[in-house]
Amino acid sequence: MVLDTPAVQRLVEALRRLPGIGKRTAERLALHVLTAPADEAALLSEAVQEAREKITTCSVCQNLTDLDPCAICSDEQRDASIICVVERPAGAMAIEKGGAFKGRYHVLHGTLNPLEGVGPSELQLDRLYKRIQDDEVREVIAATNATAEGEATAMYLSRQIDGERVKVSRIAHGVPMGGGLEFADDATLTHALQGRTSI
Ligand code: ZN
Repeated sequence: MVLDTPAVQRLVEALRRLPGIGKRTAERLALHVLTAPADEAALLSEAVQEAREKITTCSVCQNLTDLDPCAICSDEQRDASIICVVERPAGAMAIEKGGAFKGRYHVLHGTLNPLEGVGPSELQLDRLYKRIQDDEVREVIAATNATAEGEATAMYLSRQIDGERVKVSRIAHGVPMGGGLEFADDATLTHALQGRTSI
């Protein structure tokens, strides 16, 4: 990078932390920000800051929202007795885009990963169990990603949740192995949801 000053390095490092951004792309983006009109750079930094300030996590489903509870949790038309458990807000967004799911979500913000110290309490699974009791949930759809951790998390949930009272199902395969829900197209996701099976 031509401008190897601490300020530019900081910008490049910050951009590199974004998903999918390597060193070269980070440098290219940094150069763009530095050579663009000043108000364009200001707009970007203001937009990042404003979104961070206004967006919070829903106290019910833990999805990202600007209202608490979020629009989906407060929508009476949505079926509170079916909860679709996803790893990340991106997963809920992907299913929502498909438009076929009329239940509610629960966002874990991760998966069980004992090697990295992520257990049930880190994922605050108690919150999910409380919802299952309070809202008289009859089905939990484990829509965690098709990775080893996602599968293990789905199996763990099926063991913990009382199968007599609550059906626990897993979305069908078709969602690319190893990939997140956000990488599946709408039709694939809709089919995966419709073809879910009890676990
Ligand atoms: Zn919510």
